[in-house]
Amino acid sequence: MSQGGAPLVPVGVFGGTFDPVHYGHLRSALELVEQLQLQQLRLMPCAVPPHRDSPACSAAHRAAMVELAVAGEPRLACDARELRREGASYTIDSLVEIRRELGEGHSLCLVMGCDAVLAIDSWHRWQELLGWAHVVVIARPGWQLPGTGPVADWLRGHRLAGPAELGRRASGGVLVEELRPLPISSTEIRAMLAAGRSPRYLLPQAVLDYIQTHDLYR
Ligand code: ATP
Repeated sequence: MSQGGAPLVPVGVFGGTFDPVHYGHLRSALELVEQLQLQQLRLMPCAVPPHRDSPACSAAHRAAMVELAVAGEPRLACDARELRREGASYTIDSLVEIRRELGEGHSLCLVMGCDAVLAIDSWHRWQELLGWAHVVVIARPGWQLPGTGPVADWLRGHRLAGPAELGRRASGGVLVEELRPLPISSTEIRAMLAAGRSPRYLLPQAVLDYIQTHDLYR
């Protein structure tokens, strides 16, 4: 709760495999920083995804690419904490840690795309997520939020009216934000690289240079 009515400063965390990170992630991240007035948005590569196939390249490479991608933009950062934990990377564990580090003066926003929110009821201890953070859903073209079922009820029950509400309490709300649609995916970038085509201009040049130097995704 904010003390004495002063708004809490929101900090965001954007989880993903980032295999590799691309301009869809980065542009969305920057737009969220500005729309939600986040102090910072941390891109948090998932080391061992519990719910999908193993990423094509190592967590260390994926985090290194995120570091390169956010260099020079102080409002974005790479949070590599999941690389330092053993076993499956559960988001709830990261939120608990980040909440402890932030203390009382911040609200915490967990950012995810519609594809992620559709399956959120399969996440480890999903019902506890809102005890530690708000959830911000990026509305993406071609994706619809569910109308019925447990996720639909959860969304309806916690929906916030607008970004200003993020500063009124530390956690517990769901916000759906529309951002500039950029139909870029890591899957497509990996496929282009595997086929010998260039994904240039879909991701930062420094990331592409890293991919080429380390001979990734071939
Ligand atoms: P893949 O194709 O391997 O599934 P991806 O491009 O979807 O990868 P992820 O690392 O899985 O990237 O995504 C991390 C988060 O970013 C997810 O919540 C996802 O919904 C979101 N996201 C991915 N691509 C975009 C995009 N182009 N615009 C906005 N959000 C995106």
